[in-house]
Amino acid sequence: MPVVARVEDLSVDYITLRGVVRVLNGVSIDVREGEILALVGETGSGKTTLGLSIPRLLPPNAVVRSGKILFDGVDVFKLSEDEVRELRGSKITVIFQEPRISLNPVMRIGDQLAEVLEAHVGIDKKTAYGRVEDMLRKVGLYDPQRVMKSYPFELSGGMAQRVMIAMAMLLSPRLIIADEPTSALDVTVQAQIIDLMKELISSYRTSVLYITHDLALVAEIADRVAVMYAGDIVEVGDVYDVFYNPLHPYTQGLLESIPKIGYRGKLRAMPGEVPSLLNPPPACRFHPRCPFVMDECRKVKPKAYKRGDHIVLCHLYKEEGK
Ligand code: SF4
Repeated sequence: MPVVARVEDLSVDYITLRGVVRVLNGVSIDVREGEILALVGETGSGKTTLGLSIPRLLPPNAVVRSGKILFDGVDVFKLSEDEVRELRGSKITVIFQEPRISLNPVMRIGDQLAEVLEAHVGIDKKTAYGRVEDMLRKVGLYDPQRVMKSYPFELSGGMAQRVMIAMAMLLSPRLIIADEPTSALDVTVQAQIIDLMKELISSYRTSVLYITHDLALVAEIADRVAVMYAGDIVEVGDVYDVFYNPLHPYTQGLLESIPKIGYRGKLRAMPGEVPSLLNPPPACRFHPRCPFVMDECRKVKPKAYKRGDHIVLCHLYKEEGK
């Protein structure tokens, strides 16, 4: 399957008053055409930073120490500001957890969405408004005329998130980066929004990088999953392979700590805590919590080992080669 976005050996630091936070530690990942790739990890594992790196939306205190990002083969870090703005507008869109952050509070919804089309497609106002109305209907807003006349504060959380999805889909982007887009919504609305996104994605062949900490949701929506721990991607694979045959000790611990239907035994909590990235453990960052830790794990960062399409960053799989 063709690759839309390739992240190669990316390391990012944040410069803070408390010191340098080593938030991404040489991560590599491909997002393939038409897939939903879930990026899972606990808070502070670096998943949002990785997502924001692709459209170059990192905060001003971020420093890219090494690595590159190729989008459709083009090196994103080499683009000019104008080129990257164009890329963000037309080929990559981001949906955040709180939709109102991305909407202009003093502009009517219809005007905001039509403006996106006018700016990137160069169509006239009337055609733009027609397309906006169609897209709002597609995302399940049954009175699009009323929504178009509304200001963001007049919409419910679920309606505002549907508007954001409509905005993200208007230009049929190659890639949507969705950062916990449904976690602020109630469960029923969440399910509707997920179904809607899946439908739109399959009809437009859009790829999605879906950032979440919700493993149940990953099982339901994703084609592949990448597991992040303390700034490393420790495991990547088909969602079925990773859930039924997790290779990395961290993934195994994560999956063992979630309740299963019908399970009556004790839940196994993972011992230890996520390390501070101000002073992360050397070599394998998971070694202070790993039940299989070896001497080498404290001294040498593990490589990525492959088992078919399943990749794991752990010395235990060294024998299997690369
Ligand atoms: Fe555990 Fe070592 Fe594998 Fe790290 S490299 S996960 S410490 S076995």
